[in-house]
Amino acid sequence: MAKVAILYCKRIKDHSCIACAKCYKAISEKQAEFSRYDDVHLVAMTDCGDCPGLVVPRVKLLQEVLRNLDGGFDTIHLGTCMKMAMETAQCPIDFDELKPMLESKFGAKVVLGTHSY
Ligand code: SF4
Ligand code: SF4
Repeated sequence: MAKVAILYCKRIKDHSCIACAKCYKAISEKQAEFSRYDDVHLVAMTDCGDCPGLVVPRVKLLQEVLRNLDGGFDTIHLGTCMKMAMETAQCPIDFDELKPMLESKFGAKVVLGTHSY
């Protein structure tokens, strides 16, 4: 079973989607970027660390907290909100730089996007 953590854009969450209902729906229906999984378990949702791109300390803290709970993640999805922020809102994150950095630091796969709504 894939253990997935989702990161959302701290500036967009609850402005473009309320209560992350779109991601919960997509994950339960294995829609869009979740269609790759046979079985998927959402272990955590948290923000991106805020501007100007403080993702690494955020994921480090998330990994520590989950380890203390005898858990962890094997895949990190950057929410569709983060993708939208990068494409339309001058988000400082460069996904092509961030992906290999997170994958090597945390031993998890990184996927850009979640739902397609
Ligand atoms: S794209 Fe997903 S993670 Fe981002 S705000 Fe919407 S529901 Fe939440
Ligand atoms: S614009 Fe980018 S760095 Fe800023 S809060 Fe949103 S996702 Fe995070």
